[in-house]
Formats: sequence, C-alpha cells, structure tokens
Amino acid sequence: MNLCVIGTGYVGLVTGTVFADLGNKVICCDKDESKIRMLQEGKMPIYEPGLEEMVEKNVLDGRLVFSTDIANAVRESETIFIAVGTPPGSDGFADLSAVESVAKIIAQNLNDYKVIVNKSTVPVGTGDFVREVVEKNKSNGVSFDVVSNPEFLREGSAINDTLYPDRIVIGAPSNNVAMRILELYAPLERPMIITDVYSAEMIKYASNAFLSTKISFINAIACICEAVGADVIQVAKGMGYDKRIGADFLQAGLGYGGSCFGKDNSCLVQTAKKYGYNFELLQSVIDINNEQPKRFVDKIRNVLGSLKDKKIGILGLAFKPNTDDLRDAKSLEIIPQLLADGAEVSAYDPIAMDNTHKVFPNIKYCNNAYDAAKDVDALLLVTEWNEFKFLDLARVKEIMRKPIIFDGRNLYDPSSMRKLGFDYYPIGRPPVICSNKETE
Ligand code: NAD
Repeated sequence: MNLCVIGTGYVGLVTGTVFADLGNKVICCDKDESKIRMLQEGKMPIYEPGLEEMVEKNVLDGRLVFSTDIANAVRESETIFIAVGTPPGSDGFADLSAVESVAKIIAQNLNDYKVIVNKSTVPVGTGDFVREVVEKNKSNGVSFDVVSNPEFLREGSAINDTLYPDRIVIGAPSNNVAMRILELYAPLERPMIITDVYSAEMIKYASNAFLSTKISFINAIACICEAVGADVIQVAKGMGYDKRIGADFLQAGLGYGGSCFGKDNSCLVQTAKKYGYNFELLQSVIDINNEQPKRFVDKIRNVLGSLKDKKIGILGLAFKPNTDDLRDAKSLEIIPQLLADGAEVSAYDPIAMDNTHKVFPNIKYCNNAYDAAKDVDALLLVTEWNEFKFLDLARVKEIMRKPIIFDGRNLYDPSSMRKLGFDYYPIGRPPVICSNKETE
C-alpha cells in the first residue's frame, strides 16, 4: 500500500519505518525542514534503539522516503496517518492546532478516496473534528473516511512495541474502512480490536490514565511504607503476584514523566469536566505524581541540611532509560530546586545531555557516572539507565566527598549498600545509615 505519515517524531518515524519494513511504500513527512534533511542524510533526529538500522534498510530498498512536501505525499497516498504532536494547551485540553492544519492540507490535496488515520493521541470527538475540517476545506466531491488508530509504543522500546503490540485498536465508521487498516497490520499477527471512533479515542486515554493510576497508587503506598518502616518492593511483589493486579507499573519512584501521561491525564480530566463528570480519582493521581519530586528534594534537604554550596551529582536526566526525551523528565523538576537552594550540580546521562544543556546551560556535564560522583556531598539516581546498575560502587564511594546516595528509582540493593558503607535513601524502603558507625 502507498501511505504517508505526517509528523516524523517518535511515533511517526517509528510507525512509518515499520510500515515500510512490512512492505509498504511510505513517505514520512514533516514541516520541520532540519529534521527531514537529517533523515535524508541518514542521520536520526531521535535516539531509539534499532531505528537507524531499520531506516537505513528500508531507504536502501526504496520503500521509505522523507519529505517536507506534505501536499504531494497526500496526493500519492491511499492512507494518510496523522502523527503530529498534540501538546497540552493552556486550558488542560490537547492543543489540536497541528492536527487541524494537517487536516486542511489533506483537504486541499484530496485527489482520490483516502482513509485518514488519527494516530496522534486526541480527545474523544477529534475524529469528527478532522472530518469537519476536511469537508469544509476540500474543493471537490472526493470522499474520504476518518479512522482512529491510537498508538501505545513506549520510547526506548518503540520498534519492538510497534512490531509486537499487546493490541491494535482500530476505530472506524464501518467494517469496510476498518478492514483497510486491519490489512496493514495483519502481518504482525497481533490481537486487534475493531470498534467505533469514539471508543478507540477513549481507549487510549483510559489506558494511560489507568497506568498512571498504578504508578501513583504505589507511590502513595511508598509514602506510607516510609512512615511505618515497611518495604514497598516487598509490598509491590506481594501485590503483583495477584493476577488481577499484575506486577507491571508497580515500581515506586519519582513518578511518571514523558510526553504522554501528564498531558493525556490532564486532557481526560478536562474532557470529563466538559461533559459534567468530576474525575477526582484521576486528579488525585496527578497530584500525587506532582508531589514525588518535591518529596525527594525535601528528603535530601532533611538529610543534608542547607543545600547552599553543597555539591550534588545526578545520574540520569532523560525521562526514562533508552531515550533522549526530556519531556516531563523528573530531572527538570529536581535540578531547579537544587539550584534555587544554592547547590552546585554535576550531571551525567548516556544520551540526554545535549538536550538538557539547552535547558540548563550552567550546570556541569560529565563524561561518565564516576565524574558526576567526584567530590560530591550526595549522588542522586534520577533515571535508571542500565549502565548505572553495573557501576563499581566501591569506586563511587571512594571518589565521593560523602558517601550518600538518594535513589529515586530503587535501583540498588540496600544490603549491598550497607556492606559498602553508604548512607542510602531509596523510595518507600527503610534507609541504610552507615555514617554514624564510621564517625564513632
Ligand atoms: P513529536 O513531537 O516527537 O513529533 C511530532 C512531529 O510532528 C514533529 O516532528 C513536528 O515537527 C511534527 N509536526 C507538528 N506540526 C506539524 C504540521 N503542521 N505538519 C507536519 N508536521 C508537523 O511527538 P510524538 O512523541 O511522536 O507524539 C506524536 C503523537 O503521538 C502525540 O499525540 C502523542 O501524544 C502520541 N503518542 C506519543 C507516544 C510517545 O511515546 N512519544 C506514544 C503514544 C502516542
């Protein structure tokens, strides 16, 4: 099938590349000229494991091209995927201006029947909105259909998630239209849900809200564990074996981040409000999440006292491992609090330092985790990159001014930390305090 994907970001680039890999002819287009130029030169604008190789292979095989000529891409394609950003608007709803402008271009280039697929996360009713915009702006009688096909990939494992999704959701106005999209996904042999457009749009928001709820729930339990001296890792394990609960998304930590959960939850709360329902449960999930980085910094203040002129090392800046994405990253909430208190910050992240430098040009960026730990009064684990699991912690202890670690992701084993002689503060677990023994 000839198709185009409009919006070549994390979702559009991965989706387009995987569709090309499945044998389709794909034009990935974007209004961002520098991004398209990079891709035409074989450079990846984002970090995503396995992406570069798959792009290269499909470009060489002639199935994948990159273009800023969206009008032409629309004319050449039977099916058009919209994968532009839908950032949060000031009113808490998703900002649909990019979707709207793309719908206008599609309308102006509707030379033949086409299926327009919303892959961007958009509030219920956006299928109708796209249909209206296209109807209003088209200049001929050519027909089209609008489908909702929300995306569930996770950055860092996006290729794998796109090849092996838990389910594929297709919300279409009729079975015939749904079949066109189903055919595209058929080679993946994954479970498919064919439903109406409203339900498909809702499935995406309800899924993200539920996953966020699990995270905030375990973080709330972690707060209580800290107060009563219980261990949230054991609690989550004990809960997770129950099949009705499941172990995924029960890791206590600094809370959820990234480009999706925050904005999607706020959009769902606002959508509910618009239709007369007060979604207090989800609002609490958001509030608990907002508190986590503040609680973390308060814990640091309680232990270290004033942070003025203290040296603090940070391991991990991206919102999660295996991505360079900083959107809603916890580092962006923690670093300003440390700087405001007068701390000196040194940081290391395997991939996200260039992006972070644009936000915090004046903190110290290090070549590796050991440099970030050198001479610091405390080390904060903010993103659980795999390489941090395998640090030589004895060496880390040697080079730190004081061996104090605040682990925002519960990456390390408290008994090992005790043996090594660290003061170790995890989330929702009893802290390990060795410093008194050392000074005695
Ligand atoms: P992104 O910011 O990485 O990419 C969006 C792209 O759209 C950018 O390259 C931008 O230049 C382009 N764009 C914006 N306006 C445009 C226009 N008018 N014409 C052409 N191109 C335009 O965003 P993303 O992370 O890929 O997310 C895209 C959508 O998918 C969002 O709705 C998001 O909520 C949803 N989503 C994202 C993820 C994720 O993990 N990133 C997962 C599932 C769903």
